[in-house]
Formats: sequence, C-alpha cells, structure tokens
Amino acid sequence: MARIVQKYGGTSVSDIEKIFNVAKRVANTRARGIQVAVVVSAMGDTTDELLELAGRIAARPPERETALLLSTGELVSAALLSMALREIGCDAAAFSGPQAGVLTDGRYLNARILEFNAGRVKEALESGKVAVVAGFQGADARGDINTLGRGGSDTTAVALAAALDAEVCEIYTDVDGVFTVDPQLVPKARKLQEITYDELLELASLGAKVLHPRAVECGKEHGVVIHVRSSFHEETGTIVKKAASLEKGTVISGIACDKDQVKIAVIGVPDRPGIAARIFSALAKEGINVDLIVQSIRRNGENDILFTVKEEDCGKALFVLEPLVAEIGAKELLHKHDVAKISIVGAGMIHSSGVAAGMFEALAGAGINIEIISTSEIKISCLIAADRLQEAAEAIHNYFGLEKGVSPGKSQ
Ligand code: ADP
Ligand code: ASP
Ligand code: MG
Repeated sequence: MARIVQKYGGTSVSDIEKIFNVAKRVANTRARGIQVAVVVSAMGDTTDELLELAGRIAARPPERETALLLSTGELVSAALLSMALREIGCDAAAFSGPQAGVLTDGRYLNARILEFNAGRVKEALESGKVAVVAGFQGADARGDINTLGRGGSDTTAVALAAALDAEVCEIYTDVDGVFTVDPQLVPKARKLQEITYDELLELASLGAKVLHPRAVECGKEHGVVIHVRSSFHEETGTIVKKAASLEKGTVISGIACDKDQVKIAVIGVPDRPGIAARIFSALAKEGINVDLIVQSIRRNGENDILFTVKEEDCGKALFVLEPLVAEIGAKELLHKHDVAKISIVGAGMIHSSGVAAGMFEALAGAGINIEIISTSEIKISCLIAADRLQEAAEAIHNYFGLEKGVSPGKSQ
C-alpha cells in the first residue's frame, strides 16, 4: 500500500477549525487507501509565546528546560489532531517525538536527528491508523528532550519519510510552494514547479524559511521527494528533487531574505595575530554560528571586526564577548538589530561575470546602502538596513528578471 508523510505548519493548525480542516484532508487521503503519517508543528505562534514566557522568568533560561518547554507546543497539536481525526471517524494515534522513535544528539535547542526508529509509527500505519507525530523534537541518549532548531518540524517530516520509505513528503504551508523570493515580501515572486535539493538548500541556509535547511539536507541524502504546497487548496506546489530540469539559461534561481540577523562590532581591536582566532573560537565553543564577517582596514595599529549572528544567539554572544573584549584590549563592543541579509543564489553564477555588479547596481538604484558583502561561487550576500529589505528584494528581483524566468515553473 502506498505510504506518504504530510507535514502541517503552525499556520495550518492555528485553531480548532483549521485542525478539523487538516483532519478532513488527512482522512480523505486515508480513504483513498494510502497510509498517512502526519507531522505537525505547534499551533500558530505558540513557540514564540513559550519563548516569551521563559524570557519573563530569566534573561538566559536554561537550555535543557527551554527544550522541554518548547516541545509542549507540538505535543498539543499532535494530540488535538489525533482527537479530531477520531472524531470524524478516522482511526489515529498521536506520538511525541521520543515515542515515534526520534533519537537526537543531545544539543538541547539545535539537535540533529541521529536515528529515526519508526517501528511504532509503522505498526500504527499497518494496523490502519493515521500516525500523528509531534514535530521538532526527539530524545537524546539520556532520555532528555531536545528540539531541532526553529522550523525543525520540516526535518522531522522528511526524516520520517526516509525512515518509512514513503513515496513523498508533502509539506503543507501558508504559501503555494517555493518561490523565486518570499512571496509575502515580493508579491511578484514566481512560483517554481521544481527546484533541486542543492538550490533549495542554499536558499534555506541563507534564511528563506520555507523549509528547514536540515530537512532539505536529509531529503537529498535519502532521496526523499519533497512536495511543498498550500494547505488551503489542492493545487500542485513545488517538487524538490535531484534532477536539474529547471532554470536552464537563468543565472539566478532565487533570492533569500533573512531578518534574523544582528550585527556585532568589536571596535579598536589591537592588530596582532591570533586575536580573531580568540574571538571566533570563544563563540564557536558556545555553539554560536557566525555568519557574515568583515575586518576593517588597519589604522593606528587597530582594526574593527564586524560580524553577524542569529537574533537568538545575540545575548549569548555578547555575554561571551564582553569579558574577552577587555582581555584583548579592544575599545568597544557594539551591536545593532535592525539589519537584514539579502542573498542571491544560483549555480549559473560560476560561469557568469557581472552578477555581483548587477546586484550592487540594483541596490544602488534603489538608494540602499550595503554594510557587509560576502560571496561564494553560487551566492552573494549583502547586509543592509532591515527597513529596506522589501525594496531591496523587489529591486533585485526586477533587475534579474526573475518574474519571467525560463523554467517550466512559469509565473501563474
Ligand atoms: P510553516 O509554519 O508552514 O512551517 P513557515 O512560516 O515556517 O511556515 O514557512 C513558510 C513561509 O516561508 C512563507 O509564509 C513565506 O513567507 C516564507 N518564505 C521565505 N522564502 C520563501 C520562498 N522562497 N518561497 C516560499 N516561501 C518563502
Ligand atoms: N514550532 C517550531 C517553530 O516555530 C518548529 C516548527 O514550526 O517547525 O520553530
Ligand atoms: Mg516552517
């Protein structure tokens, strides 16, 4: 019997009516003789609300307890969806991440899945039930609850699809698929019919939150076909797979926008070997990922080191850096929240000249200042003022003609 995994994001299960709508869609699929395992996110903004509660107790709440707290959001929606399914006559069983067999690596808030022992989920499916699994969580070897990082329910779903050898992993969300740029930011964005794992991985890693980067990675590793689609209608969305049948002839496949950035500046750093190593290893030791980095030109034996971290890591980064700044004899530690990263992505860039110039020209044309630039063979990122992000995305989208494109995923 065919087997599929469906994942419903927070907006798709944000109230009881929506939970019943999801239940009906799941039950319809089940009624077609397909085995369905469902992964759910927490209802609406629950995860943000839980984080806010923790923040009212402590400036830096303990990670172990934060993971435990956050995991409750997905437990609620899994239990409620299972109840709704049974209410409409579709037999179902709900599982927490650990009950479903998700073994994680012990990093409380940013854990990786080591194994998905989906025996109980399989049993439920084979006995005719719909299995409803709480996304975003697992248990480590000690039995402690770990969460998978923001957006991590996608990863639960793709990993479950791999473990079940499912035909497809359907990601139901509040947009119609993967677009050339966030369609909530740029209404002219074009929906793609297909995208490769590599391109989506790049977009997701650069902050396009339509899919969790590790979900794409896991899909690529296990060859899971991922279908990103709307939970509000039946139309086909975007298929993520290996074959590169798309965007032939275009250099840029998409734009990623990331507001979740804080710029940190260590000012007046003595220009001695080993200082940058000390700063960045202290951050790495705390598990803080540093993104864009720039070092200013030396003046009077000093320079400034600027870099960005994720919003959620900012408190921890400043906590680590404050004593270090004094130790290394730097003058000042500054941070700025109202910045955003905008990136263009495309494998075609390697063979094209003038792409970076085009991006800078588009930004200049809109009068937008660039604070930091970072490039690789297949992407270019610029840090800009957060309140100019939408204009920047529109300008770059227009400049590269992404609205038209030449892929099979023509605008609709
Ligand atoms: P869910 O709760 O379903 O997991 P998310 O909010 O995590 O939903 O992800 C869906 C959102 O991703 C969309 O509402 C959209 O604003 C955003 N997004 C960012 N970049 C893109 C893109 N390139 N294509 C589609 N959506 C994107
Ligand atoms: N609820 C979690 C979050 O908001 C996980 C998810 O939605 O995928 O990040
Ligand atoms: Mg998400």
